[in-house]
Amino acid sequence: MNDKSLKIQTRALHSGRRPSDQRGLVNTPVYRGSTIVSETLKELRSKTIADREIGAMIYGRFGTPTTFALEDAIADLEGGHGGLSLPSGLAAVTTSLLAFAKPGDHVLVADTVYGPTRGFCNRMLTSLQIEVEFYDPMIGSDIDRICRPNTQCIFLESPGSLTFEVQDVPAIVAVAKSRNIVTIIDNTWATPIFYRPLELGVNVSVIAATKYVVGHADAMLGLIVADEEHYPIVRSCRDVLGQSVAPDDIYLGLRGLRTLSVRIKQHEHQTLEIAKWLESHEDVIEVFHPALTNCPGHEIWKRDFEGSSGLFSFSLKSKSDDALAAMLDPMKLFSMGYSWGGFESLIVPANPQATRSATTWSKPGQLIRVHIGLENVDDLKRDLEQGIQRYYEY
Ligand SMILES: *Cc1c(COP(=O)(O)O)cnc(C)c1O
Repeated sequence: MNDKSLKIQTRALHSGRRPSDQRGLVNTPVYRGSTIVSETLKELRSKTIADREIGAMIYGRFGTPTTFALEDAIADLEGGHGGLSLPSGLAAVTTSLLAFAKPGDHVLVADTVYGPTRGFCNRMLTSLQIEVEFYDPMIGSDIDRICRPNTQCIFLESPGSLTFEVQDVPAIVAVAKSRNIVTIIDNTWATPIFYRPLELGVNVSVIAATKYVVGHADAMLGLIVADEEHYPIVRSCRDVLGQSVAPDDIYLGLRGLRTLSVRIKQHEHQTLEIAKWLESHEDVIEVFHPALTNCPGHEIWKRDFEGSSGLFSFSLKSKSDDALAAMLDPMKLFSMGYSWGGFESLIVPANPQATRSATTWSKPGQLIRVHIGLENVDDLKRDLEQGIQRYYEY
């Protein structure tokens, strides 16, 4: 059932599901398979990978009904023509860029992108003779000044990694459209529950489903949704690269998707409480969260987003690494680890300047990035409070 008149919360539960095709089962089961046989030569020859509408299956690499259920659901939620699953969020990023950038092209990339996205641009795109230029995420319509005749795509991520600057996506899209430039955005932080960039004119949306969609820290998964013009191009790039996701991981993505809207709203609620508490905390220099007024692009966030998720940063006075260890090592609920979007709370120290080249991060202090999980908020506050005390007492 894909019905645009229904609200996003309802669609997250129903999109991509057709129990009547699954003998009445509510969920599309895990279909395993590589070989898919045809009964006749005519049937064999009639199958085409474009035939997703009737769920044509040619070969396991292109997916099974489990895969199609997730891809259809995410396409519906993001408001795109089609969805694609990939083995990781980074694979979704790299495949969407490789689909459009060709030798001799110029590509514009937000300076605040996820670190490994930058790594791919600097190492792989550059070696393909594609010129990569990083831009200030707050550039807005001034991006026109750095576009060139050979600019092929603009890559956005909003809010940005580590420091959460919110980009003026409609302003950038207007410039891109006037110059026939493809726009790609990383929508991992907000998910389609809170932000639907294709509705703002972006061509391709990329999600690290490893984070909130899977939501339980137990699978790696990437998703891409594209508009009608760009979907076949990304699809063909994914297929030509041989990227395919195991059905069990797809199933975990589907399962996570069904509860995404309630989980992310609870993350939002708890995170806002903790972010505001930290904002008024005497030992905290600054809190970086799109829903707080000091965040660059806060007004844009209010205009374009329907909510905020569980990842943000705050800064403490700079001290030694030993002080940081005294704060972090004994923490009871916040664990140190990369990734986020699962049910549990996480904390890592961060150094934004290490991954910036077009802008400089000149804010004082030690940046700490947290993911607020679904534990009790008072328990989380106590764990953080005790950690901050240990840091300053060290
Ligand atoms: C984690 C992350 C990715 C990469 O996802 P993986 O599944 O870990 O490869 C991409 N973009 C953003 C913003 C992320 O946080």
